[in-house]
Amino acid sequence: MKTCEIISVGTELLLGDIINTDAAYISKRLADIGVPLYRQSVVGDNAERLRECLNSALMRSDIVIMTGGLGPTCDDITKVVTAELFSLPLEENKAVRCSIEKYFEDIGRTMTENNLSQAMIPKGADILKNNHGTAPGVLICGKIGGSDSEKTVIMLPGPPKELEPMFEESVMPRLEAMSPNVFFSLNLHLYGIGESAAESILRPIMEESTNPTVAPYACEAEVRIRITAKGDSRAECVKLCYSMAQKIRGGEAGEYIFAESTSDGDYSETMVRRAIDLLREKKLTVGTAESCTAGMISSRIADIPGSSDVLCGGIVSYSNEVKINVLGVQADIIEKFGAVSEQCASAMAEGARRILGCDIAVSVTGIAGPSGGTPEKPVGTVCFGISDAAGTETETRHFGSLSDRGKIRRLTTSTALMKIIERISTKK
Ligand code: ATP
Ligand code: MG
Repeated sequence: MKTCEIISVGTELLLGDIINTDAAYISKRLADIGVPLYRQSVVGDNAERLRECLNSALMRSDIVIMTGGLGPTCDDITKVVTAELFSLPLEENKAVRCSIEKYFEDIGRTMTENNLSQAMIPKGADILKNNHGTAPGVLICGKIGGSDSEKTVIMLPGPPKELEPMFEESVMPRLEAMSPNVFFSLNLHLYGIGESAAESILRPIMEESTNPTVAPYACEAEVRIRITAKGDSRAECVKLCYSMAQKIRGGEAGEYIFAESTSDGDYSETMVRRAIDLLREKKLTVGTAESCTAGMISSRIADIPGSSDVLCGGIVSYSNEVKINVLGVQADIIEKFGAVSEQCASAMAEGARRILGCDIAVSVTGIAGPSGGTPEKPVGTVCFGISDAAGTETETRHFGSLSDRGKIRRLTTSTALMKIIERISTKK
């Protein structure tokens, strides 16, 4: 099995100005296809340190994937350093030059001379097409001094909007072709249980099963159990994963599972996608009345293309006046119980359902902090309401003193989405 390392190039990464999402993305995709990743390194835009870093990576690993430093400016040194290490001259590639010229013509901007440095390609290297920018990716396969075996270096541009599609289109098929096995992962998404509790439930299965492997990991508002199978065919892997999923569903963890997703699908927004799917399945519409999230719940739903058939709208009722004048919450309720109360959440959800004309309305009102907490209602206290034709239910949650304002608002949003999922799942 070929081993891999990632080198991310960019002084801005070392300064902490940007987060290395490229390495995170690539690592995740390598794990999906079972390519062993041994190291990630970050190096600044400095030729000497980059040479040293690349040289030692190539001594250890078969494949090195480099991100960044392919642009037209003088600090973009990735190609030059790599070509030197493989003793390859840089040559202008006519096709790349034409496509750069065309790119500038299309966007109506004048091309500067330095852009042509992007058309300089190490002799004999493969070009990885960039459909979203000017710098093409480059793949070099060859031997370097001091090593007997053939090494592969893949250079990709830094901007994630360019790197990610290029990785999918040009790199994944090559890596998959190098791998003797097929891999498939199935994720079970759990809500209402922590990572350590999930792990202790699953420990016997995790220890006993080597193919598929089972591993839980925590995300902000959910825990994912990743089941990964290795085999000769996709069908074989899919079968192994689903039979393990059935086993887990039948056990103690089963009651927490709200959705599943696969490694070849998009599982970044599974919770909201699940809510939308259920609404669509039952032909229901949804609306929101949001205080502390100020539109985040409806925005998460609207992020998913095609959500217009289930989302009616949302009312941002941040002030008491809007709660009273727009949603019709009685002033006495706020006076007597406070704006952060289940009584207020209930009236907000009922008001939203009436005004928006939706089948289900969800409401949230809470204290996102950092100020505004009291001993009875500390920062992180959030009241939820959910209303449909069958009635209105409320609940108070405490997201705790360890969460900051942003996290409290994000957890509130996810919990509201889960309320929609749970409400519909229990409907006949
Ligand atoms: P460009 O043609 O834009 O200069 P490049 O390949 O030379 O592309 P860099 O100059 O290293 O790439 O980075 C350009 C931008 O891409 C950075 O400012 C940053 O926004 C983003 N970027 C670079 N590296 C990474 C990374 N490892 N993770 C996330 N974003 C990155
Ligand atoms: Mg650059």
